[in-house]
Amino acid sequence: MPTNVMQTWLASSHFSGANSTYIEDLYELYLADPLAVDANWREVFDELPPVSEQPEEAHSVIREQMKHAAKAPKCFTPPQGAVHNDAKQVKVLQLIGSYRNRGHEVAALDPLGLIKHETIKDLDPFYHDLEGADLDASFNVGSYAASNETMILRDLVASLKRTYCGSIGAEYMHITNTEEKRWLQNRIESCESKPSFSEEAKNRFLEELTAAEGLERYIGSKFPGAKRFSLEGGDSFVPMLKELIRRAGEQGAQEVVLGMAHRGRLNVLVNVLGKKPNRLFDEFAGKHGEVNGSSDVKYHQGFSSDFKTPKGNIHLSLAFNPSHLEIVNPVVLGSVRARQERLQSIGESVLPITVHGDSAIAGQGIVQETFNMSQARAFKVSGTVRIVINNQIGFTTSNPEDTRSTRYCTDIAKMVQAPIFHVNADDPEAVILASQIALDFRNTFKRDVVIDLVCYRRHGHNEADEPNATQPLMYQKIKKHATPREIYVEQLESEGVISAGHGKQLVSDYRDALDNGECVVKEWQAMKRHSVDWSPYLKHDWDSAYEPQFPRERLVELGESISQYPDSYEQHSRVKKIYADRLLMARSEKLCDWGFAENLAYATLLDSKYNIRLVGQDSGRGTFFHRHAVLHEQKEGTQYVPLQNISEEQGHFDVHDSVLSEAAVLAFEYGYSTAAPKGLCIWEAQFGDFANGAQVVIDQFLSSGEQKWGRMCGLTVMLPHGYEGQGPEHSSARLERYLQLCAEHNMQVCVPSTPAQVFHMLRRQVIRSMRRPLIVMSPKSLLRHPLAVSSMDELASGTFQNAIAEIDEQDSKDVNRVVLCSGKVYYELLDKRRKEELTNVAIIRIEQLYPFPTNEVSDIFEDYAHVKDFIWCQEEPQNQGAWYCSQHHFRSVLPEAAKLHYAGRAASASTAVGYMSLHVKQQKALVNEALGFEEQQ
Ligand code: AMP
Repeated sequence: MPTNVMQTWLASSHFSGANSTYIEDLYELYLADPLAVDANWREVFDELPPVSEQPEEAHSVIREQMKHAAKAPKCFTPPQGAVHNDAKQVKVLQLIGSYRNRGHEVAALDPLGLIKHETIKDLDPFYHDLEGADLDASFNVGSYAASNETMILRDLVASLKRTYCGSIGAEYMHITNTEEKRWLQNRIESCESKPSFSEEAKNRFLEELTAAEGLERYIGSKFPGAKRFSLEGGDSFVPMLKELIRRAGEQGAQEVVLGMAHRGRLNVLVNVLGKKPNRLFDEFAGKHGEVNGSSDVKYHQGFSSDFKTPKGNIHLSLAFNPSHLEIVNPVVLGSVRARQERLQSIGESVLPITVHGDSAIAGQGIVQETFNMSQARAFKVSGTVRIVINNQIGFTTSNPEDTRSTRYCTDIAKMVQAPIFHVNADDPEAVILASQIALDFRNTFKRDVVIDLVCYRRHGHNEADEPNATQPLMYQKIKKHATPREIYVEQLESEGVISAGHGKQLVSDYRDALDNGECVVKEWQAMKRHSVDWSPYLKHDWDSAYEPQFPRERLVELGESISQYPDSYEQHSRVKKIYADRLLMARSEKLCDWGFAENLAYATLLDSKYNIRLVGQDSGRGTFFHRHAVLHEQKEGTQYVPLQNISEEQGHFDVHDSVLSEAAVLAFEYGYSTAAPKGLCIWEAQFGDFANGAQVVIDQFLSSGEQKWGRMCGLTVMLPHGYEGQGPEHSSARLERYLQLCAEHNMQVCVPSTPAQVFHMLRRQVIRSMRRPLIVMSPKSLLRHPLAVSSMDELASGTFQNAIAEIDEQDSKDVNRVVLCSGKVYYELLDKRRKEELTNVAIIRIEQLYPFPTNEVSDIFEDYAHVKDFIWCQEEPQNQGAWYCSQHHFRSVLPEAAKLHYAGRAASASTAVGYMSLHVKQQKALVNEALGFEEQQ
């Protein structure tokens, strides 16, 4: 046959378009074993160019050939006879394809049977032009059931129904990677989605189901009406979770980090993590021991324990969770990433499991953000097992048309081509099988996978709710519906796995265990496995020691090291100049600027073997072109990171340009910091006000996590801030919001104004043992301000100054006005005062607004005990900035009889004006006012 036969044949009416799947299957069959295909086909395939062994490449070749085929003239008439059989054969393979694609749409997923299935014509053999007589004919089934066998069509249809339309609805045909798709097909089809578990395993599942139901009933009868967000209806979640942990352990996991919302949480705490029931019951009864901080309600509490698996113990950590839906997920992922890095294995070593609600996974944008991050270099954790506890109802919304615009609540997962297993929660064995395949997929392909546990909730949103008012039909059904445990008991009795009465015995045994109050999880182990020791960071007072000195000689060496790059690296001219200047700064031939001091702070920390992680939009370069921690070679586009090349034994320096999100990224970095106490972790906003997209993370975690949950966090948050005429969205980092959240020494809010200050602030954050968030109003124009410079001496032997006294020579007796300020406005005040040669005004900088440095400021004020006129000057409008939240601190240190006045912009709804000319006018006015000039000056 001529070489173009394949194209011509494919282009003929029978084999073009839709039939390509069949030909693809045949071709694969041929590649595996040429004799397995019909001689006609073999002859055609023999003519094709050889393809590589790689299935993905093989497929792209086939696809290419398909494309050509589609364009080829339809002139070839295939041999008679072979065509008839092949045409039927093609239809059969199309039918298989239909089940793979759409079988899940009619799968028996709903325990209540309320889901109304549309008829799907593609699943009917007759729709594919197969006739009654064909049902008894034998056909090649291609790759179905991972066999190269033939099957009687009737048997094939029954098998397809069992595989794709039973208790598991597998959705995976949206995956384009052939290897992954084939792997999934193999797993699902080879057992027809029907597991075969040993009697021992079945008994275990029943015990676990009994525990899930038993705990809820026990609490329900002991504390009627108390909120517990019962798991009932989704009981198989407990055996599922335990199976995931067991199997993860078998496959080498050392830690599992779990994030979940309220539903079923108490059940997981007691029946999976091993929290003592007595402790939980005490909490219901309102009893508590000594409370540190403000604490939190019981269904937000996290927990840690170890869990015995056949291959050794595994550490479990349930993340603390606020009510804000889904936000805990990026926190879990950040924590997992830190643990994986610590164990030096991104992969199986630490498994994240996130648990979602059906409305929330579709409704909350944070879910999309985490899917988007799942393969990004800065954030990937080798895949997450995501479980949806799908009550088929939102908070009170039972009509899916009101909760989402997609068929399934899990459709968002398709954006990363995650396989999705919808599974009927009333079939615990199917649930376990789906979990096993899901975990194996995650561990094999290092990607996210979703299990949609289709269930119901027996008691409404919580136990105080009356679901019949809004979902009468559903709840009439639920009332009569047997529990998952009852259904499974019946199944195991009919299979002869358990004897009659055994189910009841398990119920009463479990009740006795609860009465006893001790841990009810057989696998529970005392916690030994967690890999980080927090004790060095506990119980440190606010001013825990910071030893600022750094040997000058080494500082110069490091300065030189980070200002150089290989000769072969051609740099952009502007970057070249910046680096040339940095070398001069290192050698004290020039004063240090911000970018150099900041990079040098990192270098000193790395030199002392601390790890650094810096994440933000454009962080490698710096939004304002000041950092240049990553150099981009101009000819090849390769990158060089001087901070990664300081010495053989230095700490890790990771700088990542992040995905374009604030909420999930800040949450991730929070999670990372709560699991990595040693070292420096920084999240940097592009402009400070963009952090308001992550407000939940700031309010619910950063500012209050330690007080609510005892979880410390040393995250540094850099927020560019300063009024430079760029309008409402690029001026203010909303300083007032952070100050308003400050209490109980929960975090630090700093506004450093010199390179030496940023150098010491960053070092202090790492070197002192206290771990509290550091919020930094970082500069923009100040990065290049001629006065914002420091000497190498200030870096080597200075320290972080919480407040900076007047720097000009002045006789304090001449001073009759003291201006307090923070940030860039200082330089404008200084400039104006110098120009006007004023000697009666002192300017004092508050560099740490919270905790307010009362002692330092009082010391500075000793020279101004005679002064009556104190001013707080700020760029922000009066209702913003530090004025309202910090004035009580300022007043607390004023000399007796002194008065404090405000100089700044008038209160304003918006943060800043839109016109530069107006900005300049306002800025001039506030500086004049602070210094005591008439406005027109
Ligand atoms: P985990 O690895 O999250 O299960 O934590 C194990 C133990 O380490 C916890 O029980 C705490 O005692 C301690 N721990 C973990 N994270 C923190 C944190 N951020 N702050 C203080 N202690 C922590």
